[in-house]
Amino acid sequence: MDGELMRTIVAAIPLPVIAIGPDERIAAANPAAVALFGAGIEGRHHLLSLRQPGLQAAIAAALSEGRTGTARHVIPGPSQDITYRVTVAPAGDGHALLTFEDVTEAEQMGLMRRDFVANVSHELRTPLTALLGFIETLKGAAKDDPAARARFLAIMESEAGRMNRLIGDLLQLSRVEAEERVRPTERVDLQALLAGAVATLRPLAEGAGVRVEITGETGPLPFPGDADQITQVLVNLIENAVKYGGSGGVVTLHLAREQMPRGPGIRLDVIDRGEGIDAVHIPRLTERFYRVDGHRSREQGGTGLGLAIVKHIIQRHRGRMRIESERGKGSVFSVILPEI
Ligand code: ADP
Repeated sequence: MDGELMRTIVAAIPLPVIAIGPDERIAAANPAAVALFGAGIEGRHHLLSLRQPGLQAAIAAALSEGRTGTARHVIPGPSQDITYRVTVAPAGDGHALLTFEDVTEAEQMGLMRRDFVANVSHELRTPLTALLGFIETLKGAAKDDPAARARFLAIMESEAGRMNRLIGDLLQLSRVEAEERVRPTERVDLQALLAGAVATLRPLAEGAGVRVEITGETGPLPFPGDADQITQVLVNLIENAVKYGGSGGVVTLHLAREQMPRGPGIRLDVIDRGEGIDAVHIPRLTERFYRVDGHRSREQGGTGLGLAIVKHIIQRHRGRMRIESERGKGSVFSVILPEI
C-alpha cells in the first residue's frame, strides 16, 4: 500500500489516530486527532500531549519492544471527564500507532448497572434478613407463644409483601424499558382512566383522611395510549400525593388541554397541599430508588421505583412530565400527553 493511500485511510477513520515516530515525535495525526489535541500536535514530542503514565509505558513498549498494548487516557471536560481506551500498536520502521476510543458512556453504563444491582440487592436483603430472623425466633424462643407467633407472622407477611412489590415494580420497569420505542396505537380516554384510578385508590385516600377531587375538562379526552400503563401512571402519582402530600387534606386532579410543540395535548396536574419537596431533590426524584426520606418511604410501603416507572411510561407515550413544588405549600406533578 502506498503512503498516500495509507494517509487517506487513516484520515477517514472516525476515531482519533496518531502515529509516533522512532524519534518519539508525533509523525502524523488524522483530523479526529487534530480536533482532539489541537492543530500543532504534529512534530511535537509525544510526552507534551500524552503525559499519563500508563499510556507512556504502552508507547515505550510499542516503540522499543514492538509490543501491542492498551491504556486509559482521561481528558478533563467542562461537565465531565472523557475517558479514552487507547490501543498502542507497533506500525513498522520503529513507529507506533495510537487509536483513541471514547469509552465514557460505556463506563458510565457499567457504573449505573453496578449501582442498580447493589441497590436491588440491598432492597431485597433488608426484608429477607427480617424474615430469616423471625423464622429463627419462631423455631426457637417463640415456638410455644401463640401471641408472639401471631405478631411475628403479621410482620413476616408485610416484609414478604414488600419483596413482592419490589419484584413487581422491577419487572414492570424492565417491561416498559423494553417497549419504550414502540408508541401505543390504541385510543384510550384519560377521563375514564382517571375515574378508574380514583375509584381504585378511594379506600387508601379515605383511610388517610384525604379528599380527592377532579376539576377542569369534563368531557372525554381521547389519546393514543396503553390503558394499563397510563392507569399505572395515574395510580402512582395519586398514591404519592395521598401518601406524601396528604397532610393538606385535599388532592386535586386537574384536567386541561395544552398545546405541545408538535400538536395538541392533554394535561393532568396532580396537586397536593402537603409539605412539598426541597428544590435540590426535584431533578433526582425519577431516578431509581431515589427517595427524599428513605425511612418514611419504606414505612409507607414504597419501593422508590414509582416515579422511575412513571417517567418511562410517559417517554413511551412521547409525553412530558413536570414537577413543581414549594416547601410548606405542596407539590404539582404534571403529565402532558400528545392527543394525536
Ligand atoms: P416511593 O414512593 O416508592 O418511595 P417514588 O418513586 O414514587 O417512590 O417517589 C420517590 C420519592 O419522591 C418518594 O420517596 C418521596 O420522597 C418523593 N415524593 C413523591 N411524590 C411526592 C409528593 N407528592 N410530595 C412529596 N414528596 C413526594
